[in-house]
Amino acid sequence: MPRSEGAGPPGVPAAPHAVARLRAVRLARSAKPFLARGGIKGDRCPGCRLVPSHCLCALQPAVPTRAGMCLLMADIEPLKPSNTGWLIADVVPDTFAFGWARTEADPALLALLADPQWEPYVVFPGEFVAPERVVTQLAAPAASHGRRPLFVLLDATWAEARKMFRKSPYLAHLPVLSLQPEQISRYLLRRSHRSDHFCTAEVAALCLELAGETRAGKTLQAYLDVFTHHYLQAKHQLPPDWQGYAHVRLRAQQTAVQSPAVH
Ligand SMILES: [Zn+2]
Repeated sequence: MPRSEGAGPPGVPAAPHAVARLRAVRLARSAKPFLARGGIKGDRCPGCRLVPSHCLCALQPAVPTRAGMCLLMADIEPLKPSNTGWLIADVVPDTFAFGWARTEADPALLALLADPQWEPYVVFPGEFVAPERVVTQLAAPAASHGRRPLFVLLDATWAEARKMFRKSPYLAHLPVLSLQPEQISRYLLRRSHRSDHFCTAEVAALCLELAGETRAGKTLQAYLDVFTHHYLQAKHQLPPDWQGYAHVRLRAQQTAVQSPAVH
């Protein structure tokens, strides 16, 4: 599983990231094999979950970030081959992932939320939350005492996410970061497909941009587009278009990342 950068010596496979580890734990707990509806049949690459002919591992764009990501994943999410939390963990080195359960909280999650190096924000629509908890910007560096932003993302269907938000008392004291309509519409203009639905990787890309990590945000968006292209081509048993729009854009973004003169 070669990675393009940030993955140690060449030829040495990168250690599985947080979402890959959570998937392995969740698979081990399954009484019967998980069969994704309408998904890709046959062998999958363990690095990107695609069939070998559509493998993306050589393109994984790790971008160093000051911000961290904390994924709270609904039970089945780590098993879905289309889950985009996986892509966040590919790009953002400090990505943490936890399975969500109504009756218990992982002590490692509670420790992470209490860790003084982080300033956690729960990302959730403000209209469903008491107004005094809602913020639309991150705290200024002086006010956050050098703590790094940690975005808590509920990786779930909307119905599940609402339940997770309501039934997680350990999130109740945290500020709620609500993405603003202007930010969302600017983003919608840029993206290649039309849909009102935001996947978790898109929410993460918007959060990175709010944190001033524009390169990481744009890289994640471009990588998501490449993943979506490969996933859909594999599903329809068609080869990926390595010269198509999604690939060209990801390459342009990676060139920009590697060259400090280009912003
Ligand atoms: Zn792969």
